[in-house]
Amino acid sequence: MLRRSLKAERSKRLEHPCSSVHPWLKPAHPDWRENAAKKNSQLTLNQLRWREKWINTLIVFRLNQNRQSAFTLMELLMIILIVGILAALLLAGYSQVKARAQRIQCANNLNQIGLALQEFKTDHSFYPAEVDPIRWDEERNWRDALGNEMSIHHNVESYPQGVWHCPATHRPLDSFWALHKNWGYNDYGYNVFGLGSRFLPNSMGLAEHWFNLPNTTAQPSSRVNEAAVADPSEMFAMGDEFFGGPDIIEDGLMLARASDSVITAEGFPGYDSTQSTRRAYARHQGKANVVFCDGHVGSPPLKFLFADLSDEALSCWNRDHLPHRERLSP
Ligand SMILES: [Zn+2]
Repeated sequence: MLRRSLKAERSKRLEHPCSSVHPWLKPAHPDWRENAAKKNSQLTLNQLRWREKWINTLIVFRLNQNRQSAFTLMELLMIILIVGILAALLLAGYSQVKARAQRIQCANNLNQIGLALQEFKTDHSFYPAEVDPIRWDEERNWRDALGNEMSIHHNVESYPQGVWHCPATHRPLDSFWALHKNWGYNDYGYNVFGLGSRFLPNSMGLAEHWFNLPNTTAQPSSRVNEAAVADPSEMFAMGDEFFGGPDIIEDGLMLARASDSVITAEGFPGYDSTQSTRRAYARHQGKANVVFCDGHVGSPPLKFLFADLSDEALSCWNRDHLPHRERLSP
């Protein structure tokens, strides 16, 4: 009797594992265990292999997930290298954009200076003197004369501003400029002498150096008539202020081309030519902005301005549009 009741009780428990389970989760048949066992036994060998394979794949995936949660030293170095390369590319791009913007701003300045030159020529029919010895008014100096045409004053000498300031200029802070503060460092120069030494007679540029005149009180021979310029569209008038030869460029004092030996002899004792040459090449990435006598602006390479010996390069300095190689000797 007792045995029968125990058996009934056991079959009752087997019949339903949990009486509170949701109906959808209940086994479909009261003999669920037997059915499951029957189902497993019915799996083929192939199906068991597939099941094992999937389980292994899941295990490997989990293991990889755990491994990727931390960087190895090599991965960290690779990331640092990639970030460094990207930063260098961005900085290089930024500096190129900045240099281009400065070159355009400088060209705009020279464009305005070139317009002022055209207005001056219209008013006077001659080019402004470097320094006109007989005038002590606002047109004595070529910068003052062009500033007068632009109605701007007092922003040229020593620390040029506005259109007289090239934004790519890096002012030297060396001992030479510390000694000669009153000389002023200019960003733009005037093709006063043409090719060669500034002390050669018969200037080929746009003005006579008034110190070279026989009598410094006798002017207006320092002026060059407009008609004396053979090809205004091919002659330099003004530009980034460099006094250059094939290997040496001094900046900030005049716009002229001569041989290296003349620059060394006539240049400025104590001037650091190595540093100024480096500054010149850095200013507009190996180029210079110039405005021609007809008012158009160009950006020739420094090599064309100061080292090229072709007729085309040499004649751009001279008002008769001839090369005048002899003026480069020695
Ligand atoms: Zn410039």
